[in-house]
Amino acid sequence: MFSIERSGSVAVIELNAPPVNALGLKMRQALSSAVHELEADEQVKAIVLCSALPLFCGGADIAEFRTGAVWDKPDLPDLCVTIETSRKPVVAAIAGPSMGGALEIALACDYRVAAPEALMGLPEIKLGLLPGAGGTQRLPRIAGLEVATRMILSGDPVKGDFALSCGLVDALFESGQDFRAHAIEFATRIAREGDPKRSCADMTVAHPDPKGFLAGFRTEIAPRSKNLVAPERCLKSLQAACELPLAQGLAQEKAGFAELLDTPQSRAGRHLFFAERECTKVPGVSREQRPRDIASVAVIGAGTMGRGIAIAFLQAGYPVTLLEATQGALEQGLDQVSKHFQRAADKGRFSPDQAEAFASNATGTLSYADLADADLIIEAAFESMNVKRQIFEALDRHAKPGAILASNTSTLDLDEIAAVTSRPEDAIGLHFFSPANVMRLLEVVRGAKTAPDVIATAITVAKKIRKLPVTVGVCYGFVGNRMLEPYFREGSRLLLEGAAPKQVDDVLEGFGMAMGIHAMADLAGIDVGARVRQERRSEIAHDPAYQAVQDRLFELGRLGQKTGRGSYIYEGQTRVEDPEVVQISKELATRHGVAHRQIDDQEILERCLYPLINEGFLILEEGMATRPGDCDLIWVNGYGFPDWRGGPMHYADEVGLPRILDRMNHYRQSLGAYGEMWFTPAPLLEELANTGVTLAEHFEAKKGTS
Ligand code: NAD
Repeated sequence: MFSIERSGSVAVIELNAPPVNALGLKMRQALSSAVHELEADEQVKAIVLCSALPLFCGGADIAEFRTGAVWDKPDLPDLCVTIETSRKPVVAAIAGPSMGGALEIALACDYRVAAPEALMGLPEIKLGLLPGAGGTQRLPRIAGLEVATRMILSGDPVKGDFALSCGLVDALFESGQDFRAHAIEFATRIAREGDPKRSCADMTVAHPDPKGFLAGFRTEIAPRSKNLVAPERCLKSLQAACELPLAQGLAQEKAGFAELLDTPQSRAGRHLFFAERECTKVPGVSREQRPRDIASVAVIGAGTMGRGIAIAFLQAGYPVTLLEATQGALEQGLDQVSKHFQRAADKGRFSPDQAEAFASNATGTLSYADLADADLIIEAAFESMNVKRQIFEALDRHAKPGAILASNTSTLDLDEIAAVTSRPEDAIGLHFFSPANVMRLLEVVRGAKTAPDVIATAITVAKKIRKLPVTVGVCYGFVGNRMLEPYFREGSRLLLEGAAPKQVDDVLEGFGMAMGIHAMADLAGIDVGARVRQERRSEIAHDPAYQAVQDRLFELGRLGQKTGRGSYIYEGQTRVEDPEVVQISKELATRHGVAHRQIDDQEILERCLYPLINEGFLILEEGMATRPGDCDLIWVNGYGFPDWRGGPMHYADEVGLPRILDRMNHYRQSLGAYGEMWFTPAPLLEELANTGVTLAEHFEAKKGTS
């Protein structure tokens, strides 16, 4: 767990508990005993706390939050007090990341030394929590109220040089071989010089107007923190740091932490945290699976998606070759890529040299022969099976053996595309989201024959280009768009039954969705959905009124934001209600024999969300997603589902599966033939609801047996 060595009068506690030196109960007990023992040792004049790993420490063992072991004694606040009140000065030596509880331990030390690239942060707010081991009390005393407030309320880390400038650390030493020696030297010196103890209990927060500052800050973050409970709790705790002695402030902070720990928002935050850690574990792909080397990338099609994909790779340092069908399209694509980097440099996101280097790493071609060296080729041409088949046939002829052949298709059958090649094991879907250089989500689509090392490579590369790779199976719409379909269907149907687009959107945005269904359809383009429906007529033919309002808007050329009119009228960016849409809905309702009625908000919410959740159950049953958390990551990162609700599947557990089942059955009956058509509960939902098992418990048990 850690070693203790002597260097003259300094005792060095070197943490060594891979992977992250987590501060679980055993570590806390051992550290606490070690500090007590060293305190009693007269030979020891100072203690250095450092790490043998590339990071200082990842902080609390958050699995303990679930089991309650977080409170087992000594808890983290106790350990901090043990360090702070030890008679021997303690120096934290931080090279690499030091997050959450780890930084709180460091704050309880008398001194902190760091490497310039060390990262220090209190990310608890991202889990719907506040730093509960003294972070809100010690950080403002040491680094000042303004720095502490910004760090705690953003959850973002600061680097060594900034930490030195604000007093968070006392000295910077280059990382590497001599770092530890410098830290020991530092400890030796402070032990030699006068009174080396520096407890936060003796410090106050120096600020001319803490109340005024915190009030201003509260106003500043109000738009971002609406719906969230943790920010206000953090601010209150920071205020306590300004007004109360340390011990009282710590007690208030601990109470706040305990309160937040039990909130749905914190459960949601922790669920997503674990989901992100788990999503790269893919059945049948061993952790030891060696990925293929990817040194160069080619993208076919330089349209909206191709350009975004190219930019994502270029800014991660990959050379990218763009292949287009015509010289004009190629030039336009390359020009857009180059302009993107120019704009990014103008905004200060990159230095001009860096932007130029990225842009000049892009080349263009009309010939497949120029893709012969590419390690990864991503097709982002038109969404047509014929086009994709031709492209993959050409790739089969020209790509080198072992090159990965990927498609960005959103709806087409990857296995059918892969089958035109002699190497379907090298084919994979990489479903980027628009704008591809911005959106973090990447659905990695595993075909029937995709080789495990191809999946491992996709995951590795995705991380390099800062994407969140979630592996899914081949089915219509994969996971994200498949769940989107019933959501959109209900949003549209509700118009026919009497709701206005704004009423539907207000309910969903009130729930926390980044954008309501109708605003989202207007943004994506009413034509996009209409064209997809035209292709799928046979599958939706049994519902003659399926998205009837949207189809009419399409016929009328009301394509959404791009034509200034869709479900709304657009005055610049502002959306304005359009009575004509209500009129259109009424006429269509009459034609389809659907009764127009008053619809309440609860029905809107349930009708939009529960079928989406039900689809998630079907997807999980079919194994198209590995675990509920994968569906949640997709919806939070690709579709604007509020992260503080943890994603649709986690939300279902929070609501209670019996309730979801009950309401599905309710609509199945009350909506007549329409309900019968679309509200059949998924067998897995029925099974779990009837046996009183949550989705999380079910998958946890499955994990145990697989
Ligand atoms: P787009 O029309 O903007 O761009 C397609 C580009 O491909 C055009 O520049 C076209 O000239 C080029 N092209 C067509 N046939 C070609 C060929 N045989 N060889 C080389 N280039 C060819 O389309 P888009 O929105 O970028 O979509 C591209 C793909 O990405 C589609 O499969 C689409 O389903 C998928 N997709 C789109 C989105 C989105 O939001 N737009 C999101 C995810 C996935």
